[in-house]
Amino acid sequence: MLVAVSVDSQTTMPRCGACQMPANVPASDGVGSLFQVGVIKSFSTPRGDIADLKKTPDPWGDNMATILVTGGAGFLGSHLCDRLIARGDDVLCVDNFFTGRKANIQHLIGNPRFELFRHDIVHDLFVECDQIYNLACPASPVAYQFNPIKTIKTSTIGMINMLGLAKRCRARILQASTSEVYGDPEVHPQTEDYWGYVNPLGPRSCYDEGKRIAESLCMNYHESNGVEVRIIRIFNTYGPRMDPNDGRVISNFICQALRGEPITIYGDGQQTRSFCYRDDLIEGMIRLMDNNEHIGPVNIGNPDEKTMLELAQAVIAETGSKSELKFEPLPKDDPKQRCPDITRARTWLGWEPRVPLNVGLAKTVEYYRQLLASS
Ligand code: NAD
Ligand code: UDP
Repeated sequence: MLVAVSVDSQTTMPRCGACQMPANVPASDGVGSLFQVGVIKSFSTPRGDIADLKKTPDPWGDNMATILVTGGAGFLGSHLCDRLIARGDDVLCVDNFFTGRKANIQHLIGNPRFELFRHDIVHDLFVECDQIYNLACPASPVAYQFNPIKTIKTSTIGMINMLGLAKRCRARILQASTSEVYGDPEVHPQTEDYWGYVNPLGPRSCYDEGKRIAESLCMNYHESNGVEVRIIRIFNTYGPRMDPNDGRVISNFICQALRGEPITIYGDGQQTRSFCYRDDLIEGMIRLMDNNEHIGPVNIGNPDEKTMLELAQAVIAETGSKSELKFEPLPKDDPKQRCPDITRARTWLGWEPRVPLNVGLAKTVEYYRQLLASS
């Protein structure tokens, strides 16, 4: 059954064009009637009856899993919802629409396997599920620095709420962690046993340290309470549905190139990143969740490392743009290099990326071309 809720307008991020991020601060964390939706779905019986509820025959007769995806209206979350529904799972999509967009999941509205909750994970959530993918958290530096305290709350209080839910439901939970836990790394490429080099006081710390404590919470809930956890460390991922205004390098460069605007290179452009296409990332994420042996952490990313200057040239070549390069100051604590060692993903999950940058860029450019033409 579809339950689409639109009761709480609090945290949608106003969008004012590339790099002109939010115009006003989100109001409170208040959540409106989501809790009531939870009542409809799963809390109409005392806690002790929930096990019986789960035994209720599946009207579809296939007993596929019920999977909660937090951040499900975001870039990666919406693609994950698509993949899970395509394989026959029931998906509960939770999002506060801070950086997520209804357009990302609009095509799923009306699908009997899809439910949408406008909800902020900083608040309690009562649903029944078999697995939880915890993707809720702004990912772009501009977005997560907009309200750093809220970013920290999402990765701490929100993580505790999701782990508590996993514990109560005996659900397996996957945390979408990040290469940012390595900070400005001194080990290259980054292996999972590297502890990182993070400035705990800098502008990126709300995100980096938030994700680090989220990993710690996962391990402690696992060791103390037996919660089944999975930790994936995601390296820069791109593809269609990235918000054109989120300030990330791929969306900025492509939109600037398509509009014929100068391409903004921060610093001298010699800093590196490794870009993974979204389909590869989602495949790795699902493989880790469904793996019965390994908790992680596991790096998922494409080890094809590029400087930002090389990326700009690739975007110019793909778009055929006449845009010039414009050099701007490097943001504080911007990591100089980043590249995953994916030995663990290869050996544990049999995973490696398949989509080369030129192919992924072509698909992403086509997406933005259509988006810009229609707006
Ligand atoms: P995104 O901003 O598109 O998606 C995040 C989603 O979470 C949005 O829909 C947003 O509205 C929602 N959200 C944020 N705070 C929330 C809260 N408190 N309660 C409920 N919903 C909330 O970003 P994305 O690129 O899709 O990233 C998804 C996840 O993957 C994030 O956790 C991010 O940290 C992680 N990650 C992404 C990348 C990447 O390159 N895309 C890299 C490393 C890690
Ligand atoms: N960057 C850039 N121009 C832009 C946006 C980003 O040169 O318009 C650089 C940024 O300084 C960083 C890299 O691109 O070195 C990746 O930035 P992004 O925000 O996409 O992700 P990060 O990996 O820093 O979280």
